[in-house]
Amino acid sequence: MKTITLIPGDGIGVEVTTAVQRVIEAANVAIDWEVVNGGETAYLETGQYIPDELIDSISKNKIAFKGPITTPIGTGFKSINVTLRQKYNTYANVRPVKSMSGIKTPFDNIDLVIFRENTEGLYCGIEHLVTEGVAEAIKVITEKASKRIGKSAFEYARKHKRKKVTAVHKANIMKISDGLFLDCIRSVAKEYPEIEYEEVIVDNMCMQLVMYPERYDVLVLPNLYGDIISDLAAGLVGGLGLVPGANIGDDIAIFEAVHGSAPLIAGKNMANPTACILSATMMLDYIGEESAAKRIRQAVEFVIKEGRYTTSDIGGTATTKDMTEAICQYIKSKN
Ligand code: ATP
Ligand code: MG
Repeated sequence: MKTITLIPGDGIGVEVTTAVQRVIEAANVAIDWEVVNGGETAYLETGQYIPDELIDSISKNKIAFKGPITTPIGTGFKSINVTLRQKYNTYANVRPVKSMSGIKTPFDNIDLVIFRENTEGLYCGIEHLVTEGVAEAIKVITEKASKRIGKSAFEYARKHKRKKVTAVHKANIMKISDGLFLDCIRSVAKEYPEIEYEEVIVDNMCMQLVMYPERYDVLVLPNLYGDIISDLAAGLVGGLGLVPGANIGDDIAIFEAVHGSAPLIAGKNMANPTACILSATMMLDYIGEESAAKRIRQAVEFVIKEGRYTTSDIGGTATTKDMTEAICQYIKSKN
């Protein structure tokens, strides 16, 4: 049995990670969950945002499933999510964004996979007041990190028979930093001649995605653009309640939905568990449980298409628990 660290997180975290445990159990995959919290909830209990126990657990198990963790805005404390990604060097943040039938959106043919660089860029946390009234943030782009995210994106494209990789940048303005990012991705692209490669400036990318999302396939972006484009893309397919993600490094992987802790709907049994459940299917693929992952995805697709047990963010009236239960029932009927 595999031992996996489970971080329930803050806000809607407990509700959506509980859904993940239920669904995996319904699919008959035995996982020994080592539950250790991080974030605000952990701080109240232990006085630490990232308790030592959590660090030990992830270092030991190498795989974690993480609920959303609140990042206080504008205080001196660095984001816990970013700290974990940097500490474990999970350099590729992978976010598949796909249209689902049963959800009304302007487009029904979206199938994107976003590769967001996860360790540097404007997220390196080097920020200071130069003098009263003048603040400075430093953006770090390295050849090493740019090439490895490029490689992750192209390897994925090759493995999954994707046709095109688009690098997203602002190298017309940030000529040196984004320029280096582009040079690196371009050099990686040469090793994959069968995959089409193109470059699009990030502002134009925003317009292209809301007009012609079907033209895009795999996207590779520096950290901040990846963050923003991910939310935009989530909006195109029905919202943050639906989009899964994975933080992948060479030997450690942390799976988590794109959404945050959504404090406004926390504790109300309203959160859509789909994003977390689909993140869990990425985790099951990663540990070699592909057939369970596939059954869970089919169950989620069925429940959403049927529309009887869906949460309010996607137009339904069901609770988090009802929707989870419907997904579990479908899985069990196919076991
Ligand atoms: P954080 O600071 O942790 O990111 P946030 O208030 O920005 O919290 P997000 O989770 O990023 O909240 O989501 C923004 C909005 O999207 C939420 O207020 C909520 O309306 C919606 N949302 C996000 N996740 C879900 C979900 N799982 N189910 C339903 N709605 C969601
Ligand atoms: Mg947010």
